[in-house]
Amino acid sequence: PAPPQAFLKPHFNYNPATDNLIPCKEAGLAFSKGEILHVVNREDANWWQACKVEGEGTGLIPSQFLEEKRKAFMSKKKKKKIMYLTSKNAEFDRYELQIYEEVTKMPPFQRKTLVLIGAQGVGRRSLKNRLIVMNPLRYGTTVPFTSRPPREEERDGQNYCFVTREQMERDIKDSRYLEHGEYDGNLYGTKIDSIHEVVEAGRTCILDVNPQALKVLKTAEFMPFVVFIAAPELDTLRDMHKAVVDAGLTTKLLTENDLKKTVDESARIRRAYSHYFDLTIVSDNLDKAFDKLQDTVERLFEEPQWVPVSWVY
Ligand code: 5GP
Repeated sequence: PAPPQAFLKPHFNYNPATDNLIPCKEAGLAFSKGEILHVVNREDANWWQACKVEGEGTGLIPSQFLEEKRKAFMSKKKKKKIMYLTSKNAEFDRYELQIYEEVTKMPPFQRKTLVLIGAQGVGRRSLKNRLIVMNPLRYGTTVPFTSRPPREEERDGQNYCFVTREQMERDIKDSRYLEHGEYDGNLYGTKIDSIHEVVEAGRTCILDVNPQALKVLKTAEFMPFVVFIAAPELDTLRDMHKAVVDAGLTTKLLTENDLKKTVDESARIRRAYSHYFDLTIVSDNLDKAFDKLQDTVERLFEEPQWVPVSWVY
């Protein structure tokens, strides 16, 4: 049986006022996704007693068992959607369908990775590069591997590590890549060993990878702090792009369709992966976004942090 006391991070919002199952609505404790709860009594199969770690409030919350039953019932009603989810990506679902995640408070420590998630074109690359330039002793990143032949000015190990397609295919098969993709007939990807090399040199490794990599990263091996860089409203994004073009900072002109794609992609990533995010920053001003990112990650070195218990025990 689960010990009576635990700190839990819920992966869902709860409002007793709209819950038909709770025997007494006044006794319930409303909470939001991600808010840390201190559970003090788990004797009842259906209702646990809990209080909030930050802010006011004590009351009953639905037990893991009750929420599982509720989810199973709901998924019967929405059978198609769940079947699609589980057949597409079983591993990701296990985390997605997690109800409460047990967490523990750690003294300040350096995260092994800082993961920037977001749609193409929201400025993740430039945020990453700025952080590294500002503090090269604290932050580093990986050099991607590719099977593309080097261009004349390219040096191995600078923008890319160049390898043969056969070598890369073998390593992908052996799960030595965090992620990989094909572009114009060539393979590209980030090797897991490259991340470890940065961490072993004492730095936090900044990664701007696809959200599919999150399920592999969310472990003690990579101890990530995950930041979602959200696209702003379409009008703001259009203005930002115009400013960059007018300043001569890019020659790559984006069409209205490209900009819309960025906004849609951003919304899709938020819907599918928000339970992984430690922080969301709306990229409506790159300087402000950078300040917020830098401020938050610097504070991780000074303040205690809630992390999954599996990272510690
Ligand atoms: P290029 O060959 O012009 O340097 O890069 C072509 C494309 O390869 C980039 O636009 C990018 O989409 C892709 N690419 C570069 N590095 C990586 C990587 O580490 N992983 C994946 N999946 N794609 C990459």
